[in-house]
Amino acid sequence: MARVGVLALQGAFAAHARALARLGHDAVLVRRPPDLDGLEGLVLPGGESTTQLRLLDHLGLVPALERLRLGGVPVLATCAGLILLARRVTGPAQPSLGWLDVDVARNAWGRQLESFEAAADPPRDDLPLVLIRAPRVTAVGEDVEVLAAYAGEPVLVRQGAVTGATFHPELTDRLDVHREVFGAVTPARALA
Ligand code: GLN
Repeated sequence: MARVGVLALQGAFAAHARALARLGHDAVLVRRPPDLDGLEGLVLPGGESTTQLRLLDHLGLVPALERLRLGGVPVLATCAGLILLARRVTGPAQPSLGWLDVDVARNAWGRQLESFEAAADPPRDDLPLVLIRAPRVTAVGEDVEVLAAYAGEPVLVRQGAVTGATFHPELTDRLDVHREVFGAVTPARALA
């Protein structure tokens, strides 16, 4: 079992904690710097990135997050979490931590498609995507691997230990993305 932190300031953190528990991990809700001590992984959930950014600053969490990152633990950032970690943010622009060498445009799917469900492009077309006022990844650096796409655009990207999703894997029953990032402790039989 790994101790995996879930940033729990705002947004969809509870569903991430449930997904981690189903894989046999110990999900630790993170609200203040000491909560990050001894973690072996981290999830930055979706929600409202501007609010999350303000709370991170206010609670003094950024230096502790940076220390955790230097330890090289696996990190999964979904939707607003991805916006927090991007190199550059537009629509509107805001500061970000720059852990992932991608540019993201916030709320960029337009009104008709503001929130929608879809399947990822082949070969990942068995991966269900739930997109809620999702960002679009508009540029990826050369060290960034695109793990899944939708309509030809990256929706799941990885750079070293950091994985970012524009969608919400925690809002489906599927554990693929959490398993890809953190592994599973529970025997596969028990997950059916
Ligand atoms: N639109 C939100 C933002 O810009 C992200 C939405 C989400 O996390 N589902 O922060």
